[in-house]
Amino acid sequence: MKKRFTTLLNNNRLVHAYLFEGDGNELAMWLTKQVFCKIISDEPCGECSSCRRINVHNHPDVHVIEPDGQAIKIDQIRLLQKEAAYKGVEGSKQVFIIKQADRMNPQASNALLKFLEEPFQDTLSILIADKRDSILPTILSRVQTIRIDVSNSLEREARSKGYTSHKSLPILSTVMTSIEEFEKHQEVVDE
Ligand SMILES: [Zn+2]
Repeated sequence: MKKRFTTLLNNNRLVHAYLFEGDGNELAMWLTKQVFCKIISDEPCGECSSCRRINVHNHPDVHVIEPDGQAIKIDQIRLLQKEAAYKGVEGSKQVFIIKQADRMNPQASNALLKFLEEPFQDTLSILIADKRDSILPTILSRVQTIRIDVSNSLEREARSKGYTSHKSLPILSTVMTSIEEFEKHQEVVDE
């Protein structure tokens, strides 16, 4: 997936809006860094001033929107539109990451739809949501959906919790849907 994005990026073929369905936070951060990284390579360098500021959520041309309380509200989308209307602070590019995009109230959804229908040049929007079904079909028609492999992220989570020597980890994580389920069964499976 990352390789594909790098190729698209290098050939200027990224579409203007994506929906990452599933655990898309990591890929969104990776892609954002790859867009802004000053060193052209297969991976963002992680060390240039762009990468470093994105890591600490302090890049002027990267805008992250997430629910304010229960939902994403129209004012947040209006702010996004306003920022997109200006050119990027440092270059022309801007990235908008909309987390939990399935938690938009109807007014916000409609405002976002308008934004996606008339995209500003050099803007990349990344919507992240657990389930594609919970997003307005009209919005879905404006974005390219990328399904994030849940099993991979579960495996990663299990490894980060210290189950590194678990031989059946890759297989397990394709049949289990949560880390709790994995932990409940892991002893049994280990025997
Ligand atoms: Zn970099």
